[in-house]
Parts: sequence; structure tokens; C-alpha cells
Amino acid sequence: MKSTAVKWQNSEAKKILDQHLLNEVPRSPQRIYASMVIMREFHSTAVLTTEGQILDVEMVRSGFNHDKLVSRVVLQKRKQIAPERRTGRAFYRARKEEDGCDYMNEMCGKCPDCLIYGFAATKGEGAQRSRVLTDTGFAIRSYEGMQRSITLNAIQDTTAGGISGSAFAEREHIRPQVFFPTVETLVDVTPAEFIYVLRNILTTTRYGGESNRQGSVQNHPVALFFGRGELLSNLALTQHVYDRLYEQVGEQIDEFPLNRSDVEEAIRDTITKQSEQAYFPIRLYKGEELQSFLTSVRDLWRNEEECEAWQTELEKDHQVYLQNLK
Ligand SMILES: [Zn+2]
Repeated sequence: MKSTAVKWQNSEAKKILDQHLLNEVPRSPQRIYASMVIMREFHSTAVLTTEGQILDVEMVRSGFNHDKLVSRVVLQKRKQIAPERRTGRAFYRARKEEDGCDYMNEMCGKCPDCLIYGFAATKGEGAQRSRVLTDTGFAIRSYEGMQRSITLNAIQDTTAGGISGSAFAEREHIRPQVFFPTVETLVDVTPAEFIYVLRNILTTTRYGGESNRQGSVQNHPVALFFGRGELLSNLALTQHVYDRLYEQVGEQIDEFPLNRSDVEEAIRDTITKQSEQAYFPIRLYKGEELQSFLTSVRDLWRNEEECEAWQTELEKDHQVYLQNLK
């Protein structure tokens, strides 16, 4: 049955992306940036430890106006990007039967994952720098208010089989309802590539260790902006958000889980203010404009035919790029 859905080519999303992005992957950097502002909300406990039992924390200033020192739980860059790459690879693999990309051993250098997120050839030639930029995310509240030690059966649950002579070990988790305001920036991508990364962000729901039974996350898109540079780091974003929330609730900020819509509003206000102060023009999409963009991509992904049209374009973008490299 022919669908009556809007075609990918005529979709609202494609129109917006065409206005701001390149129509092919450039051979040398042009530094055309597209940034998604995401509020990552943990819905369950999560393991955000690099190794061992202690959560990853950094001592930083709480905000700009309120500058007392706090220890914040961090969400490392790798912990944000790795699960999203896995989402994308699985999606691609389901469509292409001959998936020659072996992430652990030899990366193919041709698939969307290699070409967008980057790869280094283990043998032979070729490498691609990642065109997805992010940095460490910081929780808004202090570590003390959001950590919980969970006793594990050490023999079952720790990799080395536990400490001999002791059946139990403790590992620190974050409690549910912890927010990480983050920005993921794409550099020199085409509209089809942008949609690929956006899909990975919006459909990845598990982060951190032991993610088969915890680490459930919802990524809420708060804003989207285009320009010739990056606007602010994740730490600065968290600090601005902290200032705004502190003005509303004062010292109580560390006592209870934050309200989702308050956090979202604080992120949106911060990005709006920062974009007005940037040294280059920025086109910011938020509120209704952002919603209409997201509705358009939702329609696209839910329509098999148009989803195929988008992926065919993605493939074409990469064929042209690889051809040009020769
Ligand atoms: Zn590959």
C-alpha cells in the first residue's frame, strides 16, 4: 500500500537541515556545527563507575553565581557515546546483510558508524576523525544526595568473582531521577547523517554498567541549534542550570530529586541566553519549532518507505565521500 505520508525529501526536518547543513561530506573540515541539547534523565539506579566500586565524581564549583565546591557524579563521554553507537550499528546491521564492520577487531571504514563516529584502521590505511563531539556530563546536584551503596552478591556480580572470603561487596549507584544536561555536537554532517545520530540519541535507553537490569535513561531533547562553533561545555551548562534552580529553591536543591520541567526550563533558558551572547550567529530551535521538527522525524522513522528513502540518501552520501577520497 502506498502511504500518504510526507516524503523524506519534502519533510519539515529535511527542509530545516538543508538550510543549515552541507549537502555532502566535505574532504577537509568546514566546521559547520549542529548541536542537540539533551536532558538525560536516569529512571532507575545506574552504575557509573569506571572501575571498582566508587562512582566517578569530580569536585567542581556548583555554579557561577553560587560557587561553593561540590562533588558531582560524572557521565563520561565514552559512557554517553558507546551505547548510542551500538544502537546505530544494530539498526544498520538489520538493513544490510553484509555487515563487514567488526567493531572490536577490524572496523570497515565504510559504514555510517565508522564514517560519522570515527575509526582508526588497525591494519592497512584510513582513519576518520569522529564528527560527533561531546564531553563529560555533570549531574546538577551534589554526589552526597544521589548516591546509594548497593550490596551485591560478590561471587555473582563482580567480574573477578569477588573478594575471596567475602560473599558480599558494595558498589555505589546513582539513585533514580538524576539529570545530566548535555550537548552533542555534529560537525560537517549531511542532513541524512544528522538524522542517523539523532535516531541513536532518541532511541538509546540504557547507559552505564549492568545495563540489562538498570541504567534506564530517557533522553529529552530540549533544543537544537546551528552555527559555526560550539556554545558551551556540559560543565558550564550544568553550572548555569544550577544557578537558575538555586534561585528558585535555595539550599533545598540538594535535598530532593529535581522537578523535570524545572530542569528542562533552566536548560532552555541557559541555551537561549548563551546563544544571544555568542560571537557568531546561531539559529536556535526550541519550543514549538523544535516540536514540529521532532514530529517530522518521528513520522519519518515510523514510515517504512520514507525511512528507506532517508537511509538510501545516507548510503549515497557515503559512497560519494569515499569515491572523492580516492
Ligand atoms: Zn564500519
